[in-house]
Amino acid sequence: MPAKNINDIVSLCKRRGFIFPGSEIYGGLGGTYDYGPYGVELMKNIRDSWWNAMVYQRDDVEGLDAAQITNRLLWKYSGHEAGFSDPLVECKKCKTRMRQDKMADQTKCDACGSGDLTEPRAYQLMMGLSVGATADGAINAYLRPETATTIFTNFKNVLDSTPHKLPFGIVQIGRVFRNEISPRGFVFRMREFEQAELQYFVRPGDDEEQFNDWKATRLQWWIEQLGIPAEKLRFLPHEKLAHYAKAAEDIEYEFPDGFDEVEGIHNRADFDLGSHTKSQKEFDIKAAVMENTDSTAKLSFSDPQTGENFIPYVIETSLGTNRTMFAVMCEAYTEEDLGDDKSRVVLKLKPRLAPVKAAVIPLARNVPELVARADELVVDLRKLGIGRIEMENSGNIGKNYRRHDEIGTPVCITVDHQTLEDGTVTLRHRDTMAQERIAIAAVPARLMEIVNG
Ligand code: ATP
Repeated sequence: MPAKNINDIVSLCKRRGFIFPGSEIYGGLGGTYDYGPYGVELMKNIRDSWWNAMVYQRDDVEGLDAAQITNRLLWKYSGHEAGFSDPLVECKKCKTRMRQDKMADQTKCDACGSGDLTEPRAYQLMMGLSVGATADGAINAYLRPETATTIFTNFKNVLDSTPHKLPFGIVQIGRVFRNEISPRGFVFRMREFEQAELQYFVRPGDDEEQFNDWKATRLQWWIEQLGIPAEKLRFLPHEKLAHYAKAAEDIEYEFPDGFDEVEGIHNRADFDLGSHTKSQKEFDIKAAVMENTDSTAKLSFSDPQTGENFIPYVIETSLGTNRTMFAVMCEAYTEEDLGDDKSRVVLKLKPRLAPVKAAVIPLARNVPELVARADELVVDLRKLGIGRIEMENSGNIGKNYRRHDEIGTPVCITVDHQTLEDGTVTLRHRDTMAQERIAIAAVPARLMEIVNG
């Protein structure tokens, strides 16, 4: 049975080294989290799975890693500087600040129920910076609040340096920063997080079909690569579209406290390249864009066959990797009753996503021959290059199993006295707790099978 409430996950994350509160020893900083030894591995495996699906399994998508500190003008023309703000309401009684659009009832404080609220005020979500030796400390740059805009501003660079025709895409995984009014739900809403976004450039007219194709492709990734059952995912079309969007739908996952957004898929039409291009008047831009007097690049596509030169439309897929990892953990978290008043917590992650791929346990830590055989096996398994292999030499096999169940290690391999006699070891499987005895020489191939299974 998956996690019943978020606190199960929060406590596992802290206890087993996945996620810690940011700046913790100084009292913390709201909306920031630090990822520990197993958190970084799980995040990396999620990122790798996404990159593999979006770049390596296709030939129409390129990668990018742009700077996080960005010129103000990017956000002037993207519309963020003027429009990227949430309506903020403060309760005059208990001083709680809330995003008006997220309140359960817009006439009452979420915290104390009082109806004595301030008028909503715009609240700038971007974190401004003063970069370089400015005398007055005025904001001249922003930490980017999303990865999309730097993809658009690099459209020409990528197009000119790769052999692509339309449709083609650019992806980016990277940190973003938003001064969220009310960070909440553990890593669900943070102030510093990581996005994995695709901007897919298409011919105007092909956009609706591409939007639907990407919806299907992305949903399939959640099901097949992350192991989320289809019935715990759904699409939610936006009722109110953002000013740039022609269509927008969220993929929602059923968290312990209900369905909520994990990924957005948007048809952004020609708003973005149309906003950031120079010589806007040369093009038939359909979206309502601000006049751009600063851009130095034409962000158009010239078709060598037809001679047409136009602004491509954009289909965007956008997810937060932190929120994705949270959903994956909620789904994998399982409490099992083992009878006799015993139970265990096990993280039933897809083996490919597991932070540790295998643990090797010599049954007695004071028998040098056992430890030496275990060491040799660890060295061989590490050569597979499939991720982290741990040597467990604490001498308490029960504790080892418990820890590896909780961090989701698919197999524990025990080296015991019989190993010294006949060269076999025991594989103990995480989900079934079943044990199999196989020759040491067969372990690498068996582990590959399990991890790729
Ligand atoms: P909001 O909920 O603030 O309206 P949004 O719909 O604007 O967010 P997008 O900008 O579309 O979110 O971001 C895409 C994805 O990034 C979301 O689906 C989510 O997975 C992730 N994300 C957005 N904001 C946060 C955040 N504050 N913390 C963690 N992940 C986030």
